Amino acid sequence: MPIATVNPANGETVKTYEPMDDAEVERRLQLAEATFRTYRTTSFAERAEHLNRAADLLESDNDEVARIMTTEMGKPLAQARAEAAKCVKAMRWYAERAEKLLADEVPDEADVKDSGASRVRVVYRPLGPVLAVMPWNFPLWQVIRFAAPALMAGNVGLLKHASNVPQTALYLEDLFQRAGFPVGCFQTLLVGSAAVDEILRDERVKAATLTGSEPAGRAVASTSGEMIKKTVLELGGSDPYLVMPSADIDRAAEVAVTARVQNNGQSCIAAKRFIVHTDVYDTFLEKFVAGMKDLTVGDPMDDHTDVGPLATEQGRADVEELVDDARRSGADILCGGERPDGVGWYYPPTVIAGVEREMRIHREEAFGPVATVYRAEDLEDAILIANDSPFGLSSSVWTRDEDEMAHCARDLEAGGVFVNGMTASHAAFPFGGIKRSGYGRELSAQGIREFCNITTVWQG
Ligand code: NDP
Repeated sequence: MPIATVNPANGETVKTYEPMDDAEVERRLQLAEATFRTYRTTSFAERAEHLNRAADLLESDNDEVARIMTTEMGKPLAQARAEAAKCVKAMRWYAERAEKLLADEVPDEADVKDSGASRVRVVYRPLGPVLAVMPWNFPLWQVIRFAAPALMAGNVGLLKHASNVPQTALYLEDLFQRAGFPVGCFQTLLVGSAAVDEILRDERVKAATLTGSEPAGRAVASTSGEMIKKTVLELGGSDPYLVMPSADIDRAAEVAVTARVQNNGQSCIAAKRFIVHTDVYDTFLEKFVAGMKDLTVGDPMDDHTDVGPLATEQGRADVEELVDDARRSGADILCGGERPDGVGWYYPPTVIAGVEREMRIHREEAFGPVATVYRAEDLEDAILIANDSPFGLSSSVWTRDEDEMAHCARDLEAGGVFVNGMTASHAAFPFGGIKRSGYGRELSAQGIREFCNITTVWQG
């Protein structure tokens, strides 16, 4: 894929970039290593000062950066603005809390004595340069949720962003430099995915994090495995959204629409499979389909737009194929399902019922505004359908019954269970999945500790 900004609303190439050559990548790796040697010894207060400054700058750049994101990947402008604001919040959260999250820990007195020590401390030390391979769907947030904790922990970051969001990638490097971080603390490597393997094998790169597709995750994980380097992977999802009879059905249907079409349907934590108890199936479906039909699809720069174009032509073709496969195999397309004529990579909000296990859409991630709906006999059945997926990122359940809530929290195979609400990430809570959705956690205390050398300091 060339490194270029191509506006998905009209298919026009706005700007292309030459990838960095080997000499430039080498220069940046050297700089990352050299910067880490001194940056690792800086105080939390110093790091927090820079990160807070970066948050202030991003806050004042909100409109500019939101327009870049919308131009590069097509999300509605209001959602791009909200994404930038969320990044500001997360940066301030880590600036304020990192010192506490990484404070030395002292084991139990009895255990210290038992080990023959006079004193034991567990300390969180940084690892070094960390490579972040990032996707285009939340081009600012995915990077910040890695960078804010990594920089506060004393690591330095090397960003290999998706090839279709180069302007956002360059903005990020510039942001951290303007904020006063030493040059080399956060660098963008403008390279294609073919360059990742060699960078990952470089001894100066100590760990990697990737958000994206399963094949990309597998490639990075296998090289890292060979090199014995720590990785965190946040891959695809096909999150279930369970609706039980005691739920507020109006609210469940209304939130279901947002949960499915947020970010033009291209979110790993979007609800994708709607599993509804038979007693409320018809009522829910009627409201849900009406809500999906009611959405305004159009120019993402327009404030009235709910759903913009898909980010790439290939992305739209992938979604179209999944829907066509379901249709051919006998599923019912209740709304949408036809690509519109005209420019831009638009695809309409689509609801599919009557999905069977052998259909591709049952097992694969639909990365666009396409929902599948399943009828469940009872909660056990709903959980069985929910868990019948290779993915396990997050989940949502709608019920007023405390036992059902507890049952879901115990049995849904996912890294998140959201009750009477849609899945959303927050700096304070761990985020990540199981099964083929990846491993490791981002955000919260768990996230900042992923890229630390957790060291036992034992004193006789
Ligand atoms: P990719 O996984 O291809 O892209 C994500 C990042 O990984 C990009 O920076 C990409 O670089 C890089 N990459 C791709 N292949 C490799 C590789 N072999 N080794 C190292 N790095 C690699 O996602 P796509 O854009 O192709 O989207 C395909 C599907 O992936 C979507 O339909 C969706 O199902 C899933 N996806 C999930 C996301 C999530 O949030 N979990 C985000 C994006 C996609 P480059 O751009 O240069 O190819």
